Amino acid sequence: MLKLKDVSKFYYNKGLIATGFTKINLELKMGEFVVITGESGSGKSTLLNVLSGLDSYEEGEMYINGEETSHYTEKDFEDYRRKYIANIFQSFNLVNSYTVYQNVELVMLLNGYKKKQVKQKVLDMIEKVGLTEFKNTKVSKLSGGQKQRVAIARAMIKETPIIVADEPTGNLDSASSKDVIELLKKVAKDRLVIVVTHNIEQVEEYATRIIKMHDGRIIENKEIKKVDIPEKVEESKYTKITIANKYRLGIRNTFNIVPKFLLLFAVFLFITVALLSEYASFRQTEYEANKAGYNVYFRDLSEERIIIKKKDKTAFTNDDYEKIKKLETVNYVVKDDITLDSGISIFNDEMGIYLYGDVKEATSYNGNLTAGRMPENENEVVAKIPEDYYYVRNGAEEVLDKKFKIQNQNATYNGEEREITIVGIELYEESEIFNYGRNTKFYVTNEYLDEYRKELNQNYSKIKSLFAGKYYESNPGNPYFRIMPSDKVASGTAVVSDDANYLFKDNRARNKELKIEIENIYYKEELNLKVANTYTKNSFTRLTGYKKYDENKGGVFVNKEDYTSLFNKPSYQSSVFVKDEKDLEETVLKLEELGISARPVREFKVNEGKEILQIIKIFKLVVTVVLILALFFISYFIIRIILKSRNVYFTTLRMLGATNKNVKRILDIELFINSSIAYFSFIIFILLNKLEILNIEFIKTLLKFLSLREYILMYIILIIMSWLISRRFSKRIFKKSAIKTYNEEV
Ligand code: ADP
Ligand code: MG
Repeated sequence: MLKLKDVSKFYYNKGLIATGFTKINLELKMGEFVVITGESGSGKSTLLNVLSGLDSYEEGEMYINGEETSHYTEKDFEDYRRKYIANIFQSFNLVNSYTVYQNVELVMLLNGYKKKQVKQKVLDMIEKVGLTEFKNTKVSKLSGGQKQRVAIARAMIKETPIIVADEPTGNLDSASSKDVIELLKKVAKDRLVIVVTHNIEQVEEYATRIIKMHDGRIIENKEIKKVDIPEKVEESKYTKITIANKYRLGIRNTFNIVPKFLLLFAVFLFITVALLSEYASFRQTEYEANKAGYNVYFRDLSEERIIIKKKDKTAFTNDDYEKIKKLETVNYVVKDDITLDSGISIFNDEMGIYLYGDVKEATSYNGNLTAGRMPENENEVVAKIPEDYYYVRNGAEEVLDKKFKIQNQNATYNGEEREITIVGIELYEESEIFNYGRNTKFYVTNEYLDEYRKELNQNYSKIKSLFAGKYYESNPGNPYFRIMPSDKVASGTAVVSDDANYLFKDNRARNKELKIEIENIYYKEELNLKVANTYTKNSFTRLTGYKKYDENKGGVFVNKEDYTSLFNKPSYQSSVFVKDEKDLEETVLKLEELGISARPVREFKVNEGKEILQIIKIFKLVVTVVLILALFFISYFIIRIILKSRNVYFTTLRMLGATNKNVKRILDIELFINSSIAYFSFIIFILLNKLEILNIEFIKTLLKFLSLREYILMYIILIIMSWLISRRFSKRIFKKSAIKTYNEEV
């Protein structure tokens, strides 16, 4: 079965060469019970390690089952060990934190058997070594003799043809020693057993061959009994360890040593808290950097506001709005942005009243009127005014039902005196300090808003009029070629200034074609008209219905419907409000998925100290990265210390036939489970705060600045960290051969 020809083993240690054994010649057959003796340091253990493939040899030839092994790779020896060898050690080499049952079962799990499949076999084997009553006892609680019986049970259950026992009785009293040897003989049957012992007397009656070693050489090799069985070798069967078994062992290892579990848990919890709070504080800086600043385009700078447009540049449809409203993080949608970004002033010079505030849709009003009613037409408005405001200090009646002149912000001033009546008032308690009229709100009808939108569209469009083959552009702030709606003008026609006559060769504008083209960032529109009439200062009011000639001279007056077709366009830009500002980014992403380009209004802000804030942001990012690295190394060193006591366990697994990869994976799983438990414990803790069962300020900040995406990201970082820690750790302990690590640890 095993044959050595002039085999030598040397140890190289820092330039010194030590001899394990030299020029050993030996042939061992199945059925033999080989006893090796010799004084300490004579090379017995070294010989056993080489025979059992735990250690390499330097010279000579070793044959296994007739096959020469000089070409064997590490993997071949691994295979050999799994098929042929079961080891029993002087120091038992059991997993102390496992029960008797788990220790015996372990080798079967590593060899790919299913847990259920091996149950009876494990119990039978425990029965055979007489430990049934201790089967659920942790090995650490057993006596030395009992431990060695467990080791024998574990060696036997694999049913390998060869059993190698290095001083199995070395740590036992003489009574237990006798038991162990007898047991070994009993279970050995037709196998090849190789035992190292100092007590020849105890084994003499069983031994078939006795070998004496001295100074690395065999000085006596005596066959006592002839073994007469045919050389029939039954290899032990094994398959690759199953994934289920790796998880089973990983989970078992997570919990079987409670202090170790708690220490690892504490480390992972520390990483989790540090990561999350550092990230949250990073987000907070970013958030504050964004918050500072002002904006010239938008009045409503709410943190929750997102400006949206469709990517294909078409107008929003009701369908689009429905889809947007269905998003979980969306609070509400404001179709008409102008109501958010516009203010109006209303004034009455005689009464000396001047009010300024936001314009809102009357339909969105949900307060309680102090006096009056809701508006019913374009010229009526409800005002919501802080109760301690100067003009209403004597009550709502001061302004209720009074007529005011009105001026829209951003609208073209045409000098016409539009009047509006405050038909309803709400006086409310305002806690905020006065901020540029934002405390007053005017609720107007949709008709009013329609008119207002047209004015704004005109203001934000490029308007060209084609007259006599030439384009004339109108400019905001200048009445020339401004388009004005008028009841007095028939549809399809225009009334223009008599200056226009001089644009034509025949000095007559009447009945000539006029084409109006308008273009803005959202749409293009054109209108073909015929000049119906020209106005002079005297005929101006009669022909146009407008009163102020000087302010409107040069304007192009068209029918109200034609005007509407040019400027009353559906919404191309709307605003979405999210429920919570921390949902902003997530919502932007979801809107983009719907084919909508979305930008939080805060991004439009003009930041005065932008560069400095940028530097702070970069600095923070660097700090975060450095922190993650520092966390990694600190936790790696702590975990290494915690796991050091586990080296014996890992080398035991390897000696039982687990590959390095398997052992690594089992450790991965253990750290994965432990870090996940730590992470989710903290998440539960956060949830308790969210549900207001607990109330901790620091957690509240986390909640405010982290979204689901970031929680998932942090979890992934944690898992990657634990995987890297596991990798680093296993690299260290697997650098050396199993037997070397084992010798150093035990
Ligand atoms: P035994 O088991 O008979 O007591 P060993 O096989 O352990 O003897 O040792 C045989 C020789 O090899 C001794 O001289 C010992 O010092 C040496 N030896 C054993 N292991 C190592 C090692 N890892 N490094 C260097 N020398 C070693
Ligand atoms: Mg020894």
